[in-house]
Amino acid sequence: MDELVSTDNTFAQLLDPKDPEVCQATDHFFEKAKLADPLLTREQWEADRAGPYICAIEQLKAEKNAAVIGHNYMHPYVSFVCDYLGDSLKMGEAAASEKFNDKSIIVNAGVKFMAETAKTLNPQKKVLQPSMDAGCSLAASIVPADVDLMRVTHPGIPIVNYANTYVDVRAKSDALCTSSNIVDIAVEITKEWNIDKVILAPDQYLARNTQITLDGMYERGDLDRRIEVITHPGSCEVHERYDPEEIKILRITHPDIVILAHPECIPAVIEAADFSGSTAQMADYVATHRPKILAMITECAQGYQIAMAYPEAQIVSSSCKGCPHMRQINMRNVYEALVHEQHEIIIPDDILVSASVPLQKMKTLMERASQRKASQTEAEVA
Ligand code: SF4
Repeated sequence: MDELVSTDNTFAQLLDPKDPEVCQATDHFFEKAKLADPLLTREQWEADRAGPYICAIEQLKAEKNAAVIGHNYMHPYVSFVCDYLGDSLKMGEAAASEKFNDKSIIVNAGVKFMAETAKTLNPQKKVLQPSMDAGCSLAASIVPADVDLMRVTHPGIPIVNYANTYVDVRAKSDALCTSSNIVDIAVEITKEWNIDKVILAPDQYLARNTQITLDGMYERGDLDRRIEVITHPGSCEVHERYDPEEIKILRITHPDIVILAHPECIPAVIEAADFSGSTAQMADYVATHRPKILAMITECAQGYQIAMAYPEAQIVSSSCKGCPHMRQINMRNVYEALVHEQHEIIIPDDILVSASVPLQKMKTLMERASQRKASQTEAEVA
């Protein structure tokens, strides 16, 4: 694992890593971290001051009535201080859930667009972003003017933006989607608009993979019309680097391997994988199928999370592809965010209101998709 915390002694108030109280409170995390990185030594753990940071962050959370929500791509150390770990939309929803009702501060252990989602769903709470440098190549690939241009070049076609976009882009969308519900959203919104085209932006690969799924559904008779997907040239700089050749080699070296891939990968990678799904769907797949040997074709920290949750599984990787933006978040800046209550996410009221509309629309479309699936199942049974 990469070293995440500074050892420059800036935080003299942190306890000594060898302090018996620190050791007692955090030793189980050290054991857990070793499941993710078997080469992690006690010396490195102490040099990283992981134990003192965990203790200090927990104390600050209690003092400030705060919760830390984190993305599945967080480094194990950061994940140890998260009160919730999940995908980007679920993080925001968790912050708004009953469990965190009484919290006045939410610290977003993820990239900036995730903090904006949390703020959109929790406008009354103070949402803090540990590092404002935690951007995203995909979110940066589209600006509000691009959405305006799409409205002109594709009049009358619904614009669905991925949740991995900034709030000013979402505010101009007809609906949002996630990697787990994009197919359902495309089906439901084209039905509602009585049209056979949809714009799915900004991830071109997610859009192409969705087009392949929709084509398959039409060919199997699951759709009454072919849906054409129009997209935008954005991409995730992590997932687009995976190559189907890597999968071929994994299958040769590990014949029994189960390969899970994120749909932001190029279509050839998805075709070569055994299962494709969002970070949450991949975690669910592992929980249900318990593969003995697997590869996670996604940001490499998710492999760490799976390794810690399922120590009996062997996780093989061709290469660790880390997200430089996610890696901006570390224990030190989570700690600093809590100490100084910095960097607060502020969204102008008009954008906040406009951005809530496509988010709500996504929920409505999801409800419709669930009802449609339930009636299909009932009809099949009858
Ligand atoms: S993994 Fe990709 S989509 Fe996620 S934050 Fe990094 S660049 Fe953006």
